[in-house]
Order: sequence, then structure tokens, then C-alpha cells
Amino acid sequence: MPGFELFGDLERKQVNDVLDNGVLMRYGFDGMRNGHWKAKELEAELQNTFQSKHVQLVSSGTAAVSIALASAGVGAGDEVIMPTFTFVASFEAIMMLGAIPILVDIDDTLCLSPEAVTAAITQKTKAVMVVQMCGSMGQMDALKAICDKHDLLLIEDACQAIGGTYKNQPLGSIGHLGCFSFDFVKTITCGEGGAVISNNKDYYINADHYSDHGHDHVGLDRGAETHPFLGYNFRISELHAAVGLAQVKRLPEFLAIQKRNYNILRDALSQISEVVFRTVPDGGVENYGFLNFFLPDLEIATNVSENFKESGVDGCFHYYNNNWHYVRKWDHLKKLKSLFPISEEVKEGLKYLETKTFKTSDHYISRNISCLIKLSWTEAEVKRRAGKMVEAIQNVI
Ligand SMILES: *Cc1c(COP(=O)(O)O)cnc(C)c1O
Repeated sequence: MPGFELFGDLERKQVNDVLDNGVLMRYGFDGMRNGHWKAKELEAELQNTFQSKHVQLVSSGTAAVSIALASAGVGAGDEVIMPTFTFVASFEAIMMLGAIPILVDIDDTLCLSPEAVTAAITQKTKAVMVVQMCGSMGQMDALKAICDKHDLLLIEDACQAIGGTYKNQPLGSIGHLGCFSFDFVKTITCGEGGAVISNNKDYYINADHYSDHGHDHVGLDRGAETHPFLGYNFRISELHAAVGLAQVKRLPEFLAIQKRNYNILRDALSQISEVVFRTVPDGGVENYGFLNFFLPDLEIATNVSENFKESGVDGCFHYYNNNWHYVRKWDHLKKLKSLFPISEEVKEGLKYLETKTFKTSDHYISRNISCLIKLSWTEAEVKRRAGKMVEAIQNVI
């Protein structure tokens, strides 16, 4: 997945364009910029990449999720359904708006279970957030049908899935709004950055204004622009956008390398009958940023994970024991450890977490190993790695 591995002259040239004219801000200063509008150019590129009518670049993936929700009017007291397996950013982004994250089980896609979503819908539910984890996707047709039936927003967090598709549609472009991250470890990086995409013009305009203090961006001098509504500063800088512009042009190259490396590892592990790969929904194509597989039980997965470390196979995660990606270790959320007071409504809304168990999620995550696919590996290195992985697994089962 990591775009940080492949950096070079293209990135340097783009950044130097910005440094040479000295305008690091994405808006205004028209006369000083020598025609360089890196954020705008990157938005145009991404419209094409995502086959989406509108793209708003922002400062991070976490900001993108908050902005997507806010742009569609989700706020205080609204419930947002999200998966137990994701990055902590998912609930952070919801809680920032005073909304309530409702965690529900995943299925063997490692994404939201449609049955669990249906069971969690209440009068307060406003949105369903599917997180396209580790380069693949949830059961999008089923999730979409549920949202249509109950008149709910479908938000797609595709931060880890750029380049993946479902029935020929880019992941991120299937829901009402899609979110991407270009942080340092994502497939393409700006250093820090993110994007909100939508085919809905109103949501896009809201995202555009909201991420820049509510500025209307009608093209006047910044000081003369008005503020139709309240916003914040979630802008991306020209420097970050410049890096992203060089990177996005290399996306097809990155995806091809990921696919080659993924297939070598997958073919090797396929020889072991106890290894079962994660389900990719019919019509889905992964971005090959991770190789995910299940082992027979928690003990075997724990031992395999240890064996990988001992034999130098890095970048493989047993998320069951990971602090950042699975509900089991989210004590700061469960105990509501906040720097500042949280509303009674949100406290009340999160009470379910004191007692709720997630047996189905445990069933999958306890047995899952997720291996990052790197871009810098040579073919010989991937083959050596595949051999070590097979040996490490066979030593346990
Ligand atoms: C990385 C990530 C985010 C947050 O992106 P940042 O740019 O780091 O804020 C959100 N969701 C998922 C699934 C991610 O992997």
C-alpha cells in the first residue's frame, strides 16, 4: 500500500513549482502563482480517477469523513452505523460532529455485515458508513439496498481502497459520498491529505465551503467572499497537493506492482488448505494493497503472527491484538476518555458499548492475518517472502 516507498523527481518537480512562486495556499493570490493551482489540478485528476463529478481535497482522511457527514447534514444526536473493524478515525470523525457511532459486526469480507446493519437501524439512524478495509469492499449491492429502503445516506470510507472497483465502479464512488486519505502510508500520498467525492452537487458545495471556514468561493478577493454557513479549516496546502499530483499519475503503476506482488504471495499460500482468503464480493476487484487470509483459530493465528515476526516477515498484522483497528482495544472510546465534556446525548447513545459483544467480528478478526503489500519489493524478494510465509504457517499447523 505505501506510496511513500516510491518517491522521486516527479514529486520534486511538482513541489518546486510551488516553492518557486511561493504561494503555498490553495485559494487566492492569483497574480503571484504563475498559473500553478496544484490542488485544483489534483482535484481534476481525481475526478477522472474516481469517475466522480465532484472532488474536494481536504487536509486528511479523518477530516474527509467528518466533512462528508457534515455536508449531508449529519450532526448532533444522529446515529451513524459503522464497522467494528476500521481505523479509529471512523468514530473520531462521527463524534466530532456530536453524532453517535453505532458499531456493528463485519462479515467475511472484513467489511460491514448487511444483516448487522439492518438490525442496528433505529429512528435516529442517519447514515451507514462502509469502510472498504484493506483494499477490498463490503457487499455493496446489499448495503445500498438497505440504505435505499430506509432512506439512509451511504458513506464510503475508501481510504485504504483507492483503485479497487465494484462492478466496474471505483470504490468510493458508489455511496452518496466517498472519502479518501493521502496520508503517509496510503497507496498514494500527499504527506497528509484527503478527499471527499460525490456526484451530488449540493453535498460537494457544502464540502467545499465547510472545509474553508464556510467561504463561498465565488471568485472574489478572499476578504470579499461571504460565509453562507459555519465551517472550519480543513484545507490542503499547495505543497501537499503538489506531491499528490505527481503520485496520482503513478497510480496505475503502483496498482500493477501491488497486483504482481499480491498474486505471488497468494499463489504460494493457496497451497495450504487451512488458509482461507477473505471474501471479495462478486463483481469486486481489490486494489491488492493487502493480502488477507483466515487461519483455523485464534491460537494458530497468534502463533503464525509470532512466527512471521521471528522469521523477518514484516508488515503482517493480527488485528485482533492491534490497538488501532479493532473494537477490542478501543477502551478510550468505551470508557469515553475525552479531554472535554461530551454531551449527555452522546454519552447515553454510547452506553451500549459497556455490554455489547461482537462475536461475529471476533470470529473473523481473531483468525485473520493482514499482510501489507509493498511497492519496493523486487520479484525475487516477494518469492523469498512467500517461501518464508509458507514455512511459518506450516510450522504451526
Ligand atoms: C487512514 C485511514 C483514515 C484516516 O486518514 P488520515 O488521512 O490518516 O486522517 C480513515 N479511515 C481509514 C479506513 C484509514 O485507513
